[in-house]
Amino acid sequence: MTSVPLIQLTGLRVEYPGRGGDPVRAVRDVDLEISEGETLGLVGESGCGKSTLGRAILRITEPTAGSIRLLGREITGLRGTVFRQIRADLQMVFQDPFSSLNPRRRIADSVAEPLLRGRGASRADASRAVDELLDLVGLGRDAGRRRPHEFSGGQRQRIGIARALAPSPRFIVADEPVSALDVSIQAQVVNLLADLTRERGLTMLFISHDLGVVRHIADRIAVMYLGQIIEVADRDTFFGGPAHPYSEALLSAVPTLDRESDRERIVLAGELPDPAHPPAGCQFHTRCRYAVDRCRAEAPALRPIQPGRTVRCHLPLVPQDIPAPSTVTTGGTAQ
Ligand code: SF4
Repeated sequence: MTSVPLIQLTGLRVEYPGRGGDPVRAVRDVDLEISEGETLGLVGESGCGKSTLGRAILRITEPTAGSIRLLGREITGLRGTVFRQIRADLQMVFQDPFSSLNPRRRIADSVAEPLLRGRGASRADASRAVDELLDLVGLGRDAGRRRPHEFSGGQRQRIGIARALAPSPRFIVADEPVSALDVSIQAQVVNLLADLTRERGLTMLFISHDLGVVRHIADRIAVMYLGQIIEVADRDTFFGGPAHPYSEALLSAVPTLDRESDRERIVLAGELPDPAHPPAGCQFHTRCRYAVDRCRAEAPALRPIQPGRTVRCHLPLVPQDIPAPSTVTTGGTAQ
């Protein structure tokens, strides 16, 4: 493992034209690092920008501004053959694997495609690799002769995972990979992803609206709201007690057996604001039960408050172990 992050995002922004001509900032100036071998869980409500962020890292959606580095190498502006080679290192597991599979092609051909195209493998090598992958994901190599419609949803997601793993990538974005599956199948697919990423030393961004699933697979958790990262924390730190009021509300909705059953369920007031016209100050202030005047006037910065935890809030919910910058530096500006 290297000390350089496998993925480093700096000021990453994705905008698209909204109704009435105002730009919608789906991803707002995201700074984030993912270490080699780590699984980062990315959570937030539907429409908060998490899928757009995942697609922007792989440049399926082109960022409007900012930087993406892979092991320190800037990949944001790369084009043509150079980017195609790097793209083989960056793969995606989609929510709906059917959308990435050609219904008329045999599974073996679909799984082999990223290996042939991205790595320039020979047909014979690709065929061997596909057999191994189909065994690895529990389908068996005979599955390669069949077509997508012959499989169940869980089996199709196993095919999606085999296809993503085919070019031996370094990094995988798994975008809600189990949310379309029956609950009984979800655990099997999550366990498969967890086992394969661990065995292969893979790094993963696991996107989900389901904190219960994320808790099972992620090493760290990042929470997104209206295109911004508002909390990042190690898994145990996060589930031990969230620091951001929005994280607190998300966590209060997760059913668990190990916590008191009468804990308060926090229901957020109102809808997610229009991303083309986000609230001034703290973007969450319109739904935050702790908001004070400062929150409406001043946007909080994402700042460290404890080892392994950063939060974008003037009034975090947990005690701060790290002194504010103004108390440890001379001439520094408190955030
Ligand atoms: Fe709530 Fe204020 Fe913190 Fe925003 S800055 S999350 S409004 S307490």
